[in-house]
Amino acid sequence: MNSEDRALANILSGKENKKKIMVGYEGKKEKAKDIKSPLTDIMAKARMPWFCPKCDSIMKKRLDRKMWMLFDHCFECQLEEEHKMRVEGTFENYEKRKFFLNRRSAIDEQIDSIKDWLKAGDSTFVEPVNIDTGFVHVEKYERPQELIDEANEALKQLAATKNEVNTILEELNG
Ligand SMILES: [Zn+2]
Repeated sequence: MNSEDRALANILSGKENKKKIMVGYEGKKEKAKDIKSPLTDIMAKARMPWFCPKCDSIMKKRLDRKMWMLFDHCFECQLEEEHKMRVEGTFENYEKRKFFLNRRSAIDEQIDSIKDWLKAGDSTFVEPVNIDTGFVHVEKYERPQELIDEANEALKQLAATKNEVNTILEELNG
């Protein structure tokens, strides 16, 4: 669970975050967040949210995950959308192809960003504390194993989704 999820879980369970405690860590937290944020942004896209952004229902099914990765909404929303398209006769092959080609390049970008993040390794900050004496404060930010595992897991998921997109594209071409 990341900090945003934890905060949300706390709010949902009625436990509020104690502001007093948070203030003390603000400085340090900001820095860790700066490094984490590129990954956090990518992960946010790969990670299925609790609720479908379209219909607000809870997403928990395996098919929800699959539809989330492909279409950004839940399985039920996809069924509804496909039904509507069938009735209206919209979403022709040409549009489908365009949609999935875009999806594939978005997935490629996500995969590249995660790989870059994994390659970048741990970082060190050097902050001058006293300019006269040259005393510096060195802070090393080691990426938690948990985050690295999460990145690798996301890579696996993205690769699986890309395979699916490729299969769909092949079918559309054929
Ligand atoms: Zn939905």
